[in-house]
Amino acid sequence: GDGLPRPEQTRIIVVANQKGGVGKTTTTVNLAASLAVHGARVLVVDLDPQGNASTALGIDHHAEVPSIYDVLVESKPLSEVVQPVPDVEGLFCAPATIDLAGAEIELVSLVARESRLQRAIQAYEQPLDYILIDCPPSLGLLTVNALVAGQEVLIPIQCEYYALEGLGQLLRNVDLVRGHLNPALHVSTILLTMYDGRTRLASQVAEEVRTHFGDEVLRTSIPRSVRISEAPSYGQTVLTYDPGSSGALSYLEAAREIALKGVGVSYDATHAHIGA
Ligand code: ADP
Ligand code: MG
Repeated sequence: GDGLPRPEQTRIIVVANQKGGVGKTTTTVNLAASLAVHGARVLVVDLDPQGNASTALGIDHHAEVPSIYDVLVESKPLSEVVQPVPDVEGLFCAPATIDLAGAEIELVSLVARESRLQRAIQAYEQPLDYILIDCPPSLGLLTVNALVAGQEVLIPIQCEYYALEGLGQLLRNVDLVRGHLNPALHVSTILLTMYDGRTRLASQVAEEVRTHFGDEVLRTSIPRSVRISEAPSYGQTVLTYDPGSSGALSYLEAAREIALKGVGVSYDATHAHIGA
C-alpha cells in the first residue's frame, strides 16, 4: 500500500441509486479494487441478482456456487461464501447467483427480514477495512438489507438529464431506515460518474449536484472511459485491466479521497479531475 490511513473500524459503504446504469456496479468494484491497491482489506458484497459485480471481479457465480442468497435466506455464514478476488491482494467478494432474484419475495416471510445481512456481517470475523455493498436498481428488501447493514451510503450520479430525479425516494428510504433500524446510517458520499467535462450539460448537472449535496460530493469525478467499460468482460477491474488509464487513476484518486475523509484529513484536490 501507499500509506493511506486505515479506518479504526470496518467502514460499511452501501452503493445505491434505484436508477439502473448510473455506475453503481462499476463504482463498487473499481473503488473496492482501488482501496485494496492502496493496502486495505476489502469485501464486496454483491446484492444484485444480475451478479454483475461478481462477474466484473472474475468470481465464479454459477447457480451452484455458495452465494449471498444462502446467507440471506438460508442463514449460511458469510465466511462460507466469500471468495478471494484473483490478482488483487486484499480484495474479496461474496457473490450473487441468479437465486437472488427470488430472495426479494422469500425474505418477506422470514424473521428479521430487514436485518439478515447486518447479522451476517456482524458475525463475520475476518478483519476488514471496508465492506462495499452493490445494490440492485430498486428499493426493495435487498436494498433495505444493505441500508440496515451499512453506516454510509455512496450514491453514484451520472451527469445527464434527470440525474437528481428519483433520488428523493432513496433519501427518504435512508431517513426511514435511520429512524427505525439503523441510527448510524447517513449519505456520506456522492460520486459523479461518466463525467465529460467538455459538455455543458455535464458541468451544469455537476454544479446542480454540488449545490444540492455540498461537501458530500467528492472532488474527484470519474470520466467516461472505454477502458472502464471494457474491463468487466475480461473479469477484471480497470485497476488490473489498464492500470495507467484515466479511469484507473480516477478511481484510485476517489478511493484516496474517501479514505482521507473517513479519518477527517482534508483532501488536496490537485489531481481531482484526472482525465475529465
Ligand atoms: P449500474 O450498476 O448502476 O446499473 P453499471 O456500473 O453497470 O451501472 O454501469 C452501466 C454501464 O455503463 C455499464 O455498461 C458500464 O460498463 C458503463 N460505465 C460505467 N461507468 C463508466 C465510465 N466511467 N465510462 C464508461 N462506461 C461506464
Ligand atoms: Mg449494477
